[in-house]
Amino acid sequence: MKINNSVLDQLFLYAKNSYNEKEIPVSAAIFRSLDNELIAIAGNNRQKNKNVLGHAEVNCILKAEDKLGDWRLDGYYMVVTLEPCDMCSIIIKESRLDKVYYFLSSKQPSKLNISINKSVIDGYEKYKEKLNELLTVFFDNMRWKPFFLWYNKLREVFVWVIKFYIENTDLILLIVL
Ligand SMILES: [Zn+2]
Repeated sequence: MKINNSVLDQLFLYAKNSYNEKEIPVSAAIFRSLDNELIAIAGNNRQKNKNVLGHAEVNCILKAEDKLGDWRLDGYYMVVTLEPCDMCSIIIKESRLDKVYYFLSSKQPSKLNISINKSVIDGYEKYKEKLNELLTVFFDNMRWKPFFLWYNKLREVFVWVIKFYIENTDLILLIVL
Protein backbone atom coordinates (compact mmCIF):
# COMPACT_ATOMS: atom_id res chain seq x y z
CA MET A 1 0.00 0.00 0.00
CA LYS A 2 1.63 3.24 -1.18
CA ILE A 3 0.26 6.67 -0.40
CA ASN A 4 1.81 9.80 -1.84
CA ASN A 5 3.21 12.55 0.36
CA SER A 6 0.62 15.12 -0.61
CA VAL A 7 -2.18 12.82 0.59
CA LEU A 8 -0.26 12.05 3.80
CA ASP A 9 0.11 15.79 4.43
CA GLN A 10 -3.57 16.47 3.75
CA LEU A 11 -4.70 13.64 6.04
CA PHE A 12 -2.46 14.94 8.81
CA LEU A 13 -3.74 18.48 8.29
CA TYR A 14 -7.38 17.35 8.55
CA ALA A 15 -6.58 15.37 11.72
CA LYS A 16 -4.73 18.38 13.14
CA ASN A 17 -7.64 20.70 12.31
CA SER A 18 -9.99 18.33 14.14
CA TYR A 19 -7.58 18.42 17.08
CA ASN A 20 -7.56 22.24 17.04
CA GLU A 21 -11.37 22.19 17.10
CA LYS A 22 -11.26 19.89 20.15
CA GLU A 23 -12.42 16.91 18.11
CA ILE A 24 -10.78 13.48 18.25
CA PRO A 25 -7.94 13.92 15.68
CA VAL A 26 -8.90 11.44 12.97
CA SER A 27 -9.20 11.91 9.20
CA ALA A 28 -10.23 9.78 6.23
CA ALA A 29 -9.86 9.90 2.44
CA ILE A 30 -11.60 8.02 -0.38
CA PHE A 31 -9.87 7.05 -3.64
CA ARG A 32 -10.98 5.47 -6.91
CA SER A 33 -9.58 1.91 -6.99
CA LEU A 34 -8.91 2.08 -10.74
CA ASP A 35 -6.39 4.94 -10.72
CA ASN A 36 -5.97 5.96 -7.04
CA GLU A 37 -7.54 9.36 -7.70
CA LEU A 38 -8.46 11.23 -4.51
CA ILE A 39 -12.24 11.74 -4.39
CA ALA A 40 -12.91 13.10 -0.91
CA ILE A 41 -11.19 13.87 2.36
CA ALA A 42 -12.64 14.75 5.77
CA GLY A 43 -11.98 14.97 9.49
CA ASN A 44 -14.05 14.54 12.64
CA ASN A 45 -16.61 17.24 13.43
CA ARG A 46 -18.94 15.58 15.94
CA GLN A 47 -18.56 18.34 18.54
CA LYS A 48 -18.75 21.24 16.10
CA ASN A 49 -21.91 20.01 14.35
CA LYS A 50 -23.38 18.39 17.50
CA ASN A 51 -23.97 15.33 15.35
CA VAL A 52 -23.33 11.76 16.48
CA LEU A 53 -22.57 10.74 12.87
CA GLY A 54 -19.73 13.28 12.54
CA HIS A 55 -16.82 10.81 12.41
CA ALA A 56 -14.21 11.31 9.67
CA GLU A 57 -15.19 8.10 7.84
CA VAL A 58 -18.90 9.04 7.67
CA ASN A 59 -18.11 12.64 6.67
CA CYS A 60 -15.81 11.36 3.94
CA ILE A 61 -18.38 8.85 2.64
CA LEU A 62 -21.04 11.57 2.49
CA LYS A 63 -18.67 13.93 0.63
CA ALA A 64 -17.72 11.20 -1.88
CA GLU A 65 -21.36 10.19 -2.44
CA ASP A 66 -22.32 13.80 -2.97
CA LYS A 67 -19.51 14.28 -5.51
CA LEU A 68 -20.16 11.02 -7.35
CA GLY A 69 -23.96 11.25 -7.21
CA ASP A 70 -24.29 7.69 -5.95
CA TRP A 71 -24.57 6.09 -2.51
CA ARG A 72 -22.79 2.95 -3.72
CA LEU A 73 -19.01 3.22 -3.41
CA ASP A 74 -17.87 -0.07 -4.89
CA GLY A 75 -14.84 0.69 -7.05
CA TYR A 76 -13.51 3.02 -4.33
CA TYR A 77 -11.44 2.49 -1.20
CA MET A 78 -10.80 4.40 2.01
CA VAL A 79 -7.62 5.36 3.85
CA VAL A 80 -8.22 6.37 7.47
CA THR A 81 -5.77 7.39 10.18
CA LEU A 82 -7.37 5.20 12.88
CA GLU A 83 -9.13 1.82 12.62
CA PRO A 84 -12.88 2.51 12.22
CA CYS A 85 -15.27 2.18 15.16
CA ASP A 86 -18.37 -0.04 15.03
CA MET A 87 -20.66 2.76 13.83
CA CYS A 88 -18.35 3.67 10.93
CA SER A 89 -17.77 -0.01 10.08
CA ILE A 90 -21.50 -0.51 9.56
CA ILE A 91 -21.72 2.56 7.29
CA ILE A 92 -18.56 1.51 5.40
CA LYS A 93 -20.12 -1.91 4.85
CA GLU A 94 -23.40 -0.40 3.66
CA SER A 95 -21.59 1.98 1.29
CA ARG A 96 -19.92 -1.04 -0.46
CA LEU A 97 -16.42 0.48 -0.32
CA ASP A 98 -13.90 -2.03 -1.72
CA LYS A 99 -11.51 -1.83 1.21
CA VAL A 100 -10.37 0.23 4.19
CA TYR A 101 -6.69 0.82 4.96
CA TYR A 102 -5.78 2.33 8.33
CA PHE A 103 -2.55 3.56 9.92
CA LEU A 104 -3.26 2.95 13.61
CA SER A 105 -5.10 0.05 15.21
CA SER A 106 -7.88 0.98 17.59
CA LYS A 107 -7.26 0.35 21.28
CA GLN A 108 -10.98 0.15 21.87
CA PRO A 109 -12.25 -3.39 21.41
CA SER A 110 -15.07 -3.80 18.90
CA LYS A 111 -18.35 -4.91 20.42
CA LEU A 112 -20.06 -5.81 17.17
CA ASN A 113 -17.21 -7.26 15.11
CA ILE A 114 -18.60 -5.96 11.82
CA SER A 115 -16.88 -7.82 9.00
CA ILE A 116 -15.43 -5.32 6.55
CA ASN A 117 -12.49 -5.71 4.20
CA LYS A 118 -9.80 -3.83 6.13
CA SER A 119 -6.09 -3.98 6.81
CA VAL A 120 -3.46 -2.01 8.65
CA ILE A 121 -0.96 -0.13 6.46
CA ASP A 122 2.60 -1.50 6.71
CA GLY A 123 5.54 0.85 7.26
CA TYR A 124 5.12 4.63 7.57
CA GLU A 125 6.41 4.33 11.16
CA LYS A 126 7.35 8.01 11.55
CA TYR A 127 3.95 9.08 10.21
CA LYS A 128 2.17 6.67 12.55
CA GLU A 129 4.14 8.14 15.47
CA LYS A 130 2.94 11.63 14.50
CA LEU A 131 -0.69 10.50 14.30
CA ASN A 132 -0.39 8.58 17.54
CA GLU A 133 1.14 11.55 19.35
CA LEU A 134 -1.76 13.74 18.24
CA LEU A 135 -4.27 11.22 19.63
CA THR A 136 -2.31 10.66 22.84
CA VAL A 137 -1.97 14.37 23.57
CA PHE A 138 -5.67 14.86 22.82
CA PHE A 139 -6.80 12.17 25.26
CA ASP A 140 -4.21 13.14 27.88
CA ASN A 141 -5.35 16.76 27.69
CA MET A 142 -8.91 15.64 28.25
CA ARG A 143 -7.98 13.60 31.29
CA TRP A 144 -5.24 15.74 32.79
CA LYS A 145 -5.89 19.11 31.26
CA PRO A 146 -4.43 21.40 33.98
CA PHE A 147 -1.37 19.20 34.46
CA PHE A 148 -0.71 18.85 30.74
CA LEU A 149 -1.09 22.53 30.04
CA TRP A 150 1.77 23.02 32.48
CA TYR A 151 3.68 20.05 31.05
CA ASN A 152 3.34 21.31 27.48
CA LYS A 153 4.71 24.71 28.51
CA LEU A 154 7.63 22.99 30.20
CA ARG A 155 8.29 21.02 27.05
CA GLU A 156 8.34 24.22 24.99
CA VAL A 157 10.98 25.69 27.29
CA PHE A 158 12.98 22.47 27.08
CA VAL A 159 12.90 22.64 23.28
CA TRP A 160 14.30 26.18 23.37
CA VAL A 161 17.19 25.17 25.62
CA ILE A 162 18.05 22.26 23.34
CA LYS A 163 18.03 24.57 20.32
CA PHE A 164 20.52 26.89 21.93
CA TYR A 165 22.78 24.00 22.84
CA ILE A 166 22.80 22.82 19.23
CA GLU A 167 23.76 26.31 18.06
CA ASN A 168 26.75 26.36 20.46
CA THR A 169 25.50 29.35 22.35
CA ASP A 170 26.67 30.01 25.90
CA LEU A 171 23.66 32.15 26.69
CA ILE A 172 20.63 30.45 28.11
CA LEU A 173 17.44 32.28 27.42
CA LEU A 174 14.19 31.00 28.87
CA ILE A 175 11.10 32.03 27.00
CA VAL A 176 7.95 31.44 29.01
CA LEU A 177 4.86 31.93 26.93
ZN1 LIG B 1 -16.27 6.03 13.78
